[in-house]
Amino acid sequence: MPFVRTLVRWSCFTAAAATLAIPSIAADKKAAPKEPVAAMPSYYGPQPATESLDLSMYARIREEGFRHSHVMEFADALTNGIGPRLTGSPNMKKANEWTRDTLTKVGLENAHLEDWGEFGMGWQQINTWGRIVTPDSEPLWLQAAPWSPATNGPVTGEAVYINISDVKDLDKYKGKLKGRIVLFGAIRTTPDLDGPLFHRYTEEELKEMETYPEPRAGAPNVQQLMADRMRMRQVRTEALKMMTDEGVAAIITPTRDGGKGGGTGIIFDDNGANLVTGAQKKEVAVTIPNAVMMIEHYNRIARLLEHNVPVTLEVNIETKFTGDHEHGFNTVAEIPGNDPKLKDQVVMVGGHLDSWISGTGATDNGAGSVVAMEAVRILKSLGVKPKRTIRIALWSGEEQGLFGSQGYVKQHFGTFAEPEHPDAPSVPAFMRTKGKLTTTKEWETLDAYYNLDNGTGRIRGVYTQENYAIAPIFAQWLAPLKDLGATTISYRNTGGTDHLSYDAVGLPGFQYIQDPMDYETRTHHSDMDTFDRLHATDLEQAAVIEAIFLYNTSEREAMMPRKPFPHPELDKQRSAPLEGIYPNAAETK
Ligand SMILES: [Zn+2]
Repeated sequence: MPFVRTLVRWSCFTAAAATLAIPSIAADKKAAPKEPVAAMPSYYGPQPATESLDLSMYARIREEGFRHSHVMEFADALTNGIGPRLTGSPNMKKANEWTRDTLTKVGLENAHLEDWGEFGMGWQQINTWGRIVTPDSEPLWLQAAPWSPATNGPVTGEAVYINISDVKDLDKYKGKLKGRIVLFGAIRTTPDLDGPLFHRYTEEELKEMETYPEPRAGAPNVQQLMADRMRMRQVRTEALKMMTDEGVAAIITPTRDGGKGGGTGIIFDDNGANLVTGAQKKEVAVTIPNAVMMIEHYNRIARLLEHNVPVTLEVNIETKFTGDHEHGFNTVAEIPGNDPKLKDQVVMVGGHLDSWISGTGATDNGAGSVVAMEAVRILKSLGVKPKRTIRIALWSGEEQGLFGSQGYVKQHFGTFAEPEHPDAPSVPAFMRTKGKLTTTKEWETLDAYYNLDNGTGRIRGVYTQENYAIAPIFAQWLAPLKDLGATTISYRNTGGTDHLSYDAVGLPGFQYIQDPMDYETRTHHSDMDTFDRLHATDLEQAAVIEAIFLYNTSEREAMMPRKPFPHPELDKQRSAPLEGIYPNAAETK
C-alpha cells in the first residue's frame, strides 16, 4: 500500500493520520492502463562491497566532540538566551539570525537565511496567569494557546463548563454565555504513572526494531478514526462560532496528556491546544482569548461546576501580534566541497529550529539544532576539506507541517503535481495522493540528508526508511562506534519530522533512532521543555556520530544508494487488485 508509513514511537509534528493507510482519493482503478514496472529510472548505481573508513578521522572527531565540545554552549544560548521560537515570532527571527552568525563564527561559508514563503501571523506570549476567586482562592497554572488574542488586562467572570460531543448539545447554552469564562473540554482523570517517565531503549527493544513490523493486532479502524476526528472538528467549529456570537470573555481548554496519562502538573501547549486548524492564518484567527490549563487545576473547577457550585475566575492572557503575513526562513550554511568531480554534490544535516511556546524548545528541537551545529563545527575545527559539499539546514515551520523543509525541497530538488481529483483541496495535504514528481538538476546532486528530532536522547542507530541497500553501509559506519551504544539499523520508516520531505521526493533522508528519555512523557511540546532536560553527554555523542556520518558521506567513492523513484500514481496501480483472475467471476460491465 503506497501510502503506508510505520510510525515507530512518536512524531514531532503530530500528523497521526500519516501512519494510517488512507484510500487514495484518485483511486480510479480502471482509468490508467497498467505500465511495466521496469520503466522507472533508478539511481542505484554501483556500490563498493565494503566501506573504506578513515578510522583516524573517527578518532579525531571523537576527541574533538567529547574533549572540546561546545554543544551545551550552543544549547544555553539558544534556549536560555533566546527562548521559545514559534515560527513567525520575533524570537524565531532572532534564532535564524543567531544561528546564521554563529555558523559563520565557527567557520562555515555562505551562511544565509532562505525564505520558504508566507507562514502567517507573528505572535508572542507576554504574560498569562489565572486564579479561582470564589468559592476558594487558588492560583492556576495555564498558558496562552498559540496565536490567542489578549484579554487586554485581567478579566473576571463566572465559569461555565462545556463538555459536548454533539452540535445539538450547544442549544442549552444559548443566551447564557456573555462575559463568561468557558471551560471547554472534558474532565480527564489522570491514571497513576504505571512506569518511569524516563526510559532508555533496552537491547530487546532495539533488537525488535531490526525485525519486519507485524501489523498490530486490533489496528485502529482508519475510516472510523477519521470520521470521528472530522465530526469533533465540526462540533468545535460550531461551538467556537456560538461562543464568539455570545461574547464569551475567555476560553480555557484542558491540556492533552503526554502518553502516560499526563497529569504531573505539565502543560502540553501545541496545535492540540488550538481551537482551529492552521491557527497561524489571519483568515481563521480565533477572536476569543484562549489558554490551556494544567489538568489538575482544570478538573477541580469543572468538578465544582458539575456540582452546581458557582465559580468565579480571574484570568489575564497577555499576548502580542507582530505581523499578519510573516514569512518563514531556514538557516543554511556550508563547508564547500573541494574535489573537482564531487564538490557540486551535497550532503546535508539538520533539524528544525522552531518550537512551541510553553517551554524554551530545548528537547524539541533545540537538541537537533545544536547537535547539527556542533557536528559541522567539529569538522571545521579539524580543518576538514571535504570532497563533497557539507551543508547544514535549520528549518522553521516544522511544528505546523514540515513547512520549512518542504519549502526547501520544493525550491531546490523537486515537486509533485497537484492531484486532479475535484475534492482534493478539501483534504489535508499529507493525506492527498500526489501527482507526478518533477525533479530539478540539483536533485541529482543531493547525496543524503541526516535529521535529528526525537529529543535529547543519544543515537542508538538509524531508521533506513526501507532503503535496504543503504543498511549495510550504515552498519559498517556504526561498527567502530559500538561502545557509544549506536548499534541498531532498522529498515523501518519513522515519521513526523523533516527527513520525510526528502524521502517523499525519492532522496535519501534519515532520522536517527534515539533513546526516548522523558521526551514523550514530559518535554515534547510542554512547559517542561527546558535546558534542564538536556543531557550533555547524549548531545555530545549525537554530534560525534552526525559528524562521522557527514564525513563518510562526503568522502565516499559513490553517492549513497536510493530507493526506486517515487511514482505515486503508478505505485497505486501496482497495488490495485489484479483484474479477471478470480475463477468463475462474471465480467463486470
Ligand atoms: Zn520536533
